[in-house]
Amino acid sequence: MICDLLICDLLISHMLHMTAEQREAIIAHARAEAPLEVCGLLAGTGGQVQRLYRLANSEQSPLSYRLDPLEQLRAFEDMEAQGWELLAIYHSHPASPAYPSPRDVDLAYYPAAVYVIVSLLDPARAVLRGFRIVEGRVSEEETCSHDF
Ligand SMILES: [Zn+2]
Repeated sequence: MICDLLICDLLISHMLHMTAEQREAIIAHARAEAPLEVCGLLAGTGGQVQRLYRLANSEQSPLSYRLDPLEQLRAFEDMEAQGWELLAIYHSHPASPAYPSPRDVDLAYYPAAVYVIVSLLDPARAVLRGFRIVEGRVSEEETCSHDF
């Protein structure tokens, strides 16, 4: 979605904000590994993404992902050192819509994080959407990308 700075300021605690460059980096990561799913973490403060961590998908699968545990640990250590929090976990759906699969819902262990899914179902137009997944319930979370 497109939003102006005033609206972003009002909604900052309810949205995930990233720069256009960060959004493009997630999509580029998804395209680079397709048809396998990719995954990674977004960290920052106040809903504003400061850093994107590309993590290996330890399942190396076109239908599922699992964050590589060692890389995840290193990313968490870096976030702590920087004073950032985990804002979002992203992964790709190379051939299905940008909506959590039943497995994604089962394995959503971070209720405070936004689950960002990039769909490459239409190769010409990647779709990126964000969701909260809390106790099996899925709700869409607004995401926006612009440069501050
Ligand atoms: Zn998924």
